[in-house]
Amino acid sequence: MHTEERTFVAIKPDGVKRGCVGEIISRFEKKGYKLIGMKMLQVTEEIAAKHYEEHINKPFYPNLVKYITSGPIIAMVFQGYKAVQGIRHLLGATDPCEADVGSIRADYAQLKEYNTIHGSDSVESAEREIAIYFKPEELCTNYKNMMELVTEDIDEGE
Ligand code: UDP
Ligand code: MG
Repeated sequence: MHTEERTFVAIKPDGVKRGCVGEIISRFEKKGYKLIGMKMLQVTEEIAAKHYEEHINKPFYPNLVKYITSGPIIAMVFQGYKAVQGIRHLLGATDPCEADVGSIRADYAQLKEYNTIHGSDSVESAEREIAIYFKPEELCTNYKNMMELVTEDIDEGE
């Protein structure tokens, strides 16, 4: 039986300012991930500190806060099979120069400091990050997408 995971994704301020929101979301939709939560918001220094708590003592942290608070972001939750790993793969490596050709960071960004998009790196991080940005009642789980319908048909035979 296949079970779905949830992951947190954010289009960072540069992606919003350059008008890349629709194109980026469509990549996740095409892959079949379910969009179960979405909001546009301005990240404050407090939210940034929660989101990036593992990086607070790193030399790049002050600049990271400046970047992530420089304009609105699009915060999203996607659900799907191996969604955490799958979405990290669609994002590409942190440094867009090293990201696989065709990945979002390779296609939309140049510098690792300003890499356009965030995705959770583990199921545990995803749970923690989703809770920072969304209340449980803001997530919509009562619908099926094509991928779920397909796997249900196949799983019946197992
Ligand atoms: N970052 C940076 N300089 C670095 C490493 C990271 O400015 O040397 C920024 C970059 O925006 C990155 C974020 O900090 O996306 C979080 O870093 P992490 O290593 O967790 O990368 P990610 O999980 O986003 O790939
Ligand atoms: Mg990270």
